Amino acid sequence: MLVRRQVLAMLGTTALATLAPAALFAATSIKPDDASALLVIDVQNCFLPGGSLAVKEGEQVVPVINKMAKAFANVVMTQDWHTPGHVSFASVHAGKKPFETVDLPYGKQVLWPDHCVQGTDGAALSKDLSIPHAELIIRKGFHKDVDSYSAFLEADGKTSTGLAGYLRGRKIKRVFVAGLATDFCVAWTALDARKAGFEVYVVEDACRGIDTQGSLAKAWADMAKAGVKRIQSGDIAASA
Ligand SMILES: [Zn+2]
Repeated sequence: MLVRRQVLAMLGTTALATLAPAALFAATSIKPDDASALLVIDVQNCFLPGGSLAVKEGEQVVPVINKMAKAFANVVMTQDWHTPGHVSFASVHAGKKPFETVDLPYGKQVLWPDHCVQGTDGAALSKDLSIPHAELIIRKGFHKDVDSYSAFLEADGKTSTGLAGYLRGRKIKRVFVAGLATDFCVAWTALDARKAGFEVYVVEDACRGIDTQGSLAKAWADMAKAGVKRIQSGDIAASA
């Protein structure tokens, strides 16, 4: 009997210990400081309804991002910015269709419908974005033979976009990632941000995914493994 009572007592302690931090966390919201930056990934016409590579419900991220951005002193936006006939377009690979893959010198490449061609309306940022204080727009994927989902490194895994240097130069330590699409440009950006040594949060309700062949679940698993924190926009304290 004594043993049973001891076990019960231990269980009670364990239950309390697990409850306490959770309750504490729920009451705490994250306050972006001067060392924090919001990265708004690829909120461009091609990825929105009516676009050539529309992400389902993609337009729903816009009001969430606009509201959240008010809490950030530092905002960086990205633009997928491809040459005509870019290597990531299915149309340049004979016999291939969008969402199939090809093997390129830097690895496996998913093929996409033509999208975000430099200077076209499809490549423009959504006119519904309202973040006038954004400090930098970084363009990526502009080398014809290399894709770049990530805002930090091109798909060859070594060519830098310069973003890590910019953020370090601005003394940014913490990045919050939002935009399109969760399982490609958002996830690759978040993973590379971790590799570059930043503390990384992905704001789930400020993103939408494409989800081809299990890509969304895999992206969240990869991000969790890399130490990316998954939060909701409501976890961020509104600006004063
Ligand atoms: Zn692209």
